[in-house]
Amino acid sequence: MPVFVLNVKGFHKIYHLFEAWTASVLACLLLTFATSGAFGAAKDEAARRKFTVTLDAGHGGHDTGATGVSSNEKTITLAVVKKLGEMIEKDLSDDVKVVYTRDGDYFVTLQGRAQIANDAGSDLFISVHINSVAKTSKNRNTVEGCQVYTLGLHKTAENLNVAKRENSVMELEDDHTTRYSNFDPDSQESDIAFELFQNKRLDQSIEFADAVHNELVNTAGRQPRGVRQAGFWVLWATSMPAVLVELDFICNPEVEKFLKTDKGQQQMATAIYNAFCSYVNTYGKDITGHNVATRKGGKGISSAAGSVPSAPPPPAKDRLKAIPEGEGSYRKPYYRVQIAASSKPYSRRSPELKGYSDVEYYLDNGLYKYTVGPYSSPKKARKALEKAQKDFPDAFVVIIVDGKRTGMLNTHEK
Ligand SMILES: [Zn+2]
Repeated sequence: MPVFVLNVKGFHKIYHLFEAWTASVLACLLLTFATSGAFGAAKDEAARRKFTVTLDAGHGGHDTGATGVSSNEKTITLAVVKKLGEMIEKDLSDDVKVVYTRDGDYFVTLQGRAQIANDAGSDLFISVHINSVAKTSKNRNTVEGCQVYTLGLHKTAENLNVAKRENSVMELEDDHTTRYSNFDPDSQESDIAFELFQNKRLDQSIEFADAVHNELVNTAGRQPRGVRQAGFWVLWATSMPAVLVELDFICNPEVEKFLKTDKGQQQMATAIYNAFCSYVNTYGKDITGHNVATRKGGKGISSAAGSVPSAPPPPAKDRLKAIPEGEGSYRKPYYRVQIAASSKPYSRRSPELKGYSDVEYYLDNGLYKYTVGPYSSPKKARKALEKAQKDFPDAFVVIIVDGKRTGMLNTHEK
């Protein structure tokens, strides 16, 4: 298990980066405004560049990643990524540039991977991995399914374990203690930093993660294990929408047979390719200056990012209530268990809420976030969380002041 040093200075660095980012966006806006007249044509010209996607085959070289009976993670991730890259280059080379973090069997540090993506000015980062559970796990031979991660708080022990396993590559690097000392996904400072990054970049990451997950289920026949969030270093360090895909479990011998075949690898690459086409249909135009023609056609993915959704509300009697404005105070905050989020409003009878009747929502960054509660103490909230996680494995506890979410309760501390 990797040991990360808690480092408050690191958090401040992130925070200042965030501030600097805000300032540079303002500067860009001003510049755009100032030049939009005289240099409008030049600006349009500059907007026409290729959409850049960085494909990251997990592990490599002396880092084999997870191992099965007769294959290993580094070989399969490279095969899938190469197939994916070839499909994109064949069909979309006019509009899309593909960058690889590795194109052979060699070791690249996590920092090196993030740097390749950042230096290329990538518009999307796709990291491909294969999952596994500990040798002592009872379900080692039967566990299966795909997971797609975006950066965030690991809300369940399972998500945390996956992030720890993928982050532990750091320990294979010579000077990992200095290089990664600022990163501690378990610290509360990281929680706050992740919250600061809850912006459009994350919304787009989640949309793409959703699309990849759907495609892996429908096109590659993988069992659904959900779109999740956890503290992956490589997602934290990349500055564009980014996802980490865990294709399936190599520790399950039946699944391994699929993962190592050319046919299986082609199906998984096609699944990610289809999701990529949807993403480029939706967001490629901003970058290339025109609609990107993909083989999959014009079926873009729904965009809820950044604005309050305008979908028709459910009938009045089924409508859920918003969290009351006066709930909780700084002297006495309330706690709620957040169970789900959606871009369109759910009704009281939506199957997604699994029969939970006392649900109230709040709006955050254009998404409806559904909660149960309120609870007057962290202890009560943790108890309710344990119960809710049976139906909603990714549930977590939010802190409510004046009817608004002000933070999250660290439920790792018990
Ligand atoms: Zn991995």
